[in-house]
Amino acid sequence: MRAYVEEDKCISCGLCTGICPEVFEFNAAGKAEAVADTTEANAAAVDNAIDSCPVRAIREEE
Ligand code: SF4
Repeated sequence: MRAYVEEDKCISCGLCTGICPEVFEFNAAGKAEAVADTTEANAAAVDNAIDSCPVRAIREEE
């Protein structure tokens, strides 16, 4: 699985990058971006980040 951030929706609140910094980082445009695959070790944190995003900008795909 891999998370994706819809950049247009992201309001740069920093929740996902705080909850799961291993996967989510801010890019040069100041928007969150998933920089790593979802693994067994970080799956719970990725789910938490997805659920916490106030604008539902994160989705996950196979
Ligand atoms: S939680 Fe959502 S709005 Fe906040 S930085 Fe992450 S993707 Fe952007």
